[in-house]
Amino acid sequence: MVERTLIIIKPDAVQRHLAGQIISRFEQKGLKVVAAKFLHISKETAEKHYAVHKDKPFFAGVVKYLSSAPVWVMVLQAEDVIKMTRKMMGATFGYDAEPGTIRGDMGCSRGYNLVHGSDSPESADYEIPLYFKPEEITNYDFADEKWLYGKND
Ligand code: UDP
Ligand code: MG
Repeated sequence: MVERTLIIIKPDAVQRHLAGQIISRFEQKGLKVVAAKFLHISKETAEKHYAVHKDKPFFAGVVKYLSSAPVWVMVLQAEDVIKMTRKMMGATFGYDAEPGTIRGDMGCSRGYNLVHGSDSPESADYEIPLYFKPEEITNYDFADEKWLYGKND
């Protein structure tokens, strides 16, 4: 099923000049960016974004981190995009993440883990409207879609 996911290139990735490389991985995979903006997330939006974790000991820290410096926020669209992007990101903590994943290749921190991706269609439906109005999400085809998403049948 064609799905959308919210991806954030987090503050540490922008500060460490890794945003382009991270976007490049998604681009190379054939995932379609349908919306994107560069912004400094407010504390209020970060609290909403991580509301699911509000009772966890790391909540205050992760809210501070997400709102500490500018980020790229984007919506990617593709069939099974949520599962694919979660796999590409790797395990939550850099030191646990497998080599070959974004977190595994580019970081070794616990909390400063470079990238966010929605973990389910329900999370994506909650997270995307925190950053984008419906009319800010584009709809287009790649010229090579036949080759990118082709099926041999
Ligand atoms: N986090 C943290 N300490 C923890 C767990 C999580 O700082 O012990 C941060 C980390 O930045 C993570 C975010 O909180 O990406 C959200 O945690 P979640 O378990 O949802 O991980 P994710 O879905 O990002 O892999
Ligand atoms: Mg999560």
